[in-house]
Amino acid sequence: MARYTQASCRLCRREGLKLFLKGERCYTDKCAIERRNYPPGEHGQGRPKFSEYSIQLREKQKLRRMYGILESQFRRYFAMADRARGVTGETLLQILERRMDNIVYRLGFATSRAEARQLVRHGHFRVNGRKVDIPSYLVRTGDAVSVRERSRQVTRIQEALELAQRRGVPEWLAIDPPTFTGIVKAFPTRADLTMPINEKLVVELYSK
Ligand code: SF4
Repeated sequence: MARYTQASCRLCRREGLKLFLKGERCYTDKCAIERRNYPPGEHGQGRPKFSEYSIQLREKQKLRRMYGILESQFRRYFAMADRARGVTGETLLQILERRMDNIVYRLGFATSRAEARQLVRHGHFRVNGRKVDIPSYLVRTGDAVSVRERSRQVTRIQEALELAQRRGVPEWLAIDPPTFTGIVKAFPTRADLTMPINEKLVVELYSK
């Protein structure tokens, strides 16, 4: 699958927001947003004008980049959310959160979604005992996500788990570190998702 391979910190600087794309570095003062919180490029420090469209577009880009998803797949998620019952913007966020790579990241088995995606692709995880190596796999309520037995010695996973224990896991997930197993207790509600995203702007953009 195609993916973004350029400098991640540029994306945060473009959006003027920490998107937490680089793992532990994002929590240190080496973070580019801490050092140069203005858009990259020659005109980065100019005074941009914002139209209604550009505000909606930026909000969509923030969300898409946060989860590391390309435009075509993001549109498919929007179409799914639009067809489903409930509030479209919230359903969209819920679908993004249900992705296997996001769950691995949220449970603390990886320090970023990009790392989680790579670990999932390499076959380190199981869902309800069955190998799942598709980062876009959508988990369901009650699913048990665990690290494959022989992958429990992988240093990256062990270190990520140790770091994550200090930060904690979201309310809608549960983790049992000794068995390297996490449970999806429920789908997240809007109140569970604290990132500064206005999903209504994304809905407005795609509804034009
Ligand atoms: Fe974004 Fe992390 Fe880079 Fe900071 S260190 S700019 S949060 S990717």
